[in-house]
Amino acid sequence: MSVLATVGAGRLYAVRAVFSCLWRGKYFSSGNEPAENYPVTPMLRHLMYKIKSTGPITVAEYMKEVLTNPAKGYYVNRDMLGEKGDFITSPEISQIFGELLGIWFISEWIATGKNAAFQLVELGPGRGTLLGDILRVFSQLASVLKNCDISIHLVEVSQKLSEIQALTLTEEKVLLERNAGSPVYMKGVTKSGIPISWYRDLQDVPKEYSFYLAHEFFDVLPVHKFQKTPHGWREVLIDIDPQVSDKLRFVLAPCATPAEAFIQCDETRDHVEVCPDAGVIIQELSQRISVTGGAALIADYGHDGTKTDTFRGFCGHRLHDVLIAPGTADLTADVDFSYLRRMSQGKVASLGPIKQQTFLRNMGIDVRLKVLLDKSDEPSLRQQLLQGYDMLMNPTKMGERFNFFALIPHQRLHGRNHQMNACQSKPSPSPVAGFGELAWR
Ligand code: SAH
Repeated sequence: MSVLATVGAGRLYAVRAVFSCLWRGKYFSSGNEPAENYPVTPMLRHLMYKIKSTGPITVAEYMKEVLTNPAKGYYVNRDMLGEKGDFITSPEISQIFGELLGIWFISEWIATGKNAAFQLVELGPGRGTLLGDILRVFSQLASVLKNCDISIHLVEVSQKLSEIQALTLTEEKVLLERNAGSPVYMKGVTKSGIPISWYRDLQDVPKEYSFYLAHEFFDVLPVHKFQKTPHGWREVLIDIDPQVSDKLRFVLAPCATPAEAFIQCDETRDHVEVCPDAGVIIQELSQRISVTGGAALIADYGHDGTKTDTFRGFCGHRLHDVLIAPGTADLTADVDFSYLRRMSQGKVASLGPIKQQTFLRNMGIDVRLKVLLDKSDEPSLRQQLLQGYDMLMNPTKMGERFNFFALIPHQRLHGRNHQMNACQSKPSPSPVAGFGELAWR
């Protein structure tokens, strides 16, 4: 555990978050607010035009348009995170969160034979806060990582957030290279001198030895919703309400729809949400990790194939009706980890989901908190550290709602490094940090 003492006090941010903010894992189901008080947004007009032209749309199509439409999407042109935004995430609450994830990547890099180079790939990096904390750990453990050639690759669809990420992470004196038409739409160098590139699609990230990170990313991918009826599964669609002008409503498809193929034959729930986009990304990650090695760490709120209606919206730290004023509120659905595991198709081993509280405790959050408290004499900073810890760890707050899940090569569990051949097998692999207690050698 001495590594946690090695990572010094770091920068103690004055105020990282105000703790009355809402995190997205908190509530279920949407409210039933009257539509009259809400504006007819450009996105609502766009969707009504679409529905009038081609008929009701799936919830997945609705989510995709509302969140990531290149012109009007919720994620594309705004900063929705933090006190002034719509919701708050763990890295925005406490620096310790990112620091422990940084240690996780270094621990896996060591356990798999200290490859000469690795890519750190983050999906949906928000404001870049999490990566900033991870990179600070990399700098502080430079003696451990020395001679390792690291590069950073960010997969981000939001123009606005990519600009904020660049501000947070890059060296001002090195001009960013921009090319909107290229798969690598921005390039630069981090404050610690590491090359960093931005992509819109994971497919465009070089297929090299990589560690992948997705924090609160899978929950914003579009879901299809299905209801069990006496006639079989019927997809939930979104249509225009004939009774109220400028209002949308949920309806059931009159007959079977193609996405039904994603429902398990032995499904026992009477309402399910399926996320084909998550399946595609997990297949891609699994394929890459099985070929090149590395690992993926996925953290989100979710369940193991047990929950039903989790589709909800957030606006200004309040629950928001998903069909009202589309484009002004975040939309999200809990991640089905059992589906992610199935989609890895046995190409890699999966670990978890385990509760955030367990993962962070295994990673040594208590030791790290003590180091930071010991080094800080300012009461407001100590208070902030303790409140942040409580928010991340308390089972009634984020401690039990958020989960960690990892994809690792099968060889990692059987004591062989990816680069080794069968004759070089190691008899006892070190446990994977976080999913067992951290073993630092
Ligand atoms: N990981 C961050 C932000 C979570 S919000 C944190 O925990 O604070 C979701 C992030 O995913 C945002 O950065 C959003 O712009 C990005 N995003 C949403 N849909 C995406 C998609 N289809 N492809 C890539 N990024 C996406």
